[in-house]
Amino acid sequence: MSSPNAITNIHGGGRGYIPGKTPDDPRKRHKCQVCGRGFARAFNLKSHMHTHDPARPKPHQCPHPMCKRSFSRLHDLERHRQGIHSDGPLVDAKRQGVSPSIIRAQSRMRSRAESGGLI
Ligand SMILES: [Zn+2]
Ligand SMILES: [Zn+2]
Repeated sequence: MSSPNAITNIHGGGRGYIPGKTPDDPRKRHKCQVCGRGFARAFNLKSHMHTHDPARPKPHQCPHPMCKRSFSRLHDLERHRQGIHSDGPLVDAKRQGVSPSIIRAQSRMRSRAESGGLI
C-alpha cells in the first residue's frame, strides 16, 4: 500500500500584504510634513516637529515661563536659575544619607560581638 496523497502546498504563503501601505488612522489626522507620522493631537505633532528642527533649541531650558532661556549645558542653566530666579540647587537625587564609613564601622562591631563569644 502506498499513499501518494502527500499534501503539498503549492500556493506558499501567498497573502496580499503590501508593506508600507498602512490604512489611515482617522484619529491621527495631524500629519508630520517631514516624516509622515500621524498624531492624534496638534500638540503632539508640534512637540514631535522639534526632533526635525535642524537648529534645535538647546536642551536645557529654563522652566520659568516668563524667561524660557535655554542653555546647552545643565551647569549653565542651574547657575542661571540660582542667579536670576533664586531657585534652589537640584540636589534632590543626591540626598545625603548615612555616610558609608559609619555603616562599615557598625557592621564590624556587630560581627566582632557575634564571633567573640564568652569562652
Ligand atoms: Zn516627523
Ligand atoms: Zn530663567
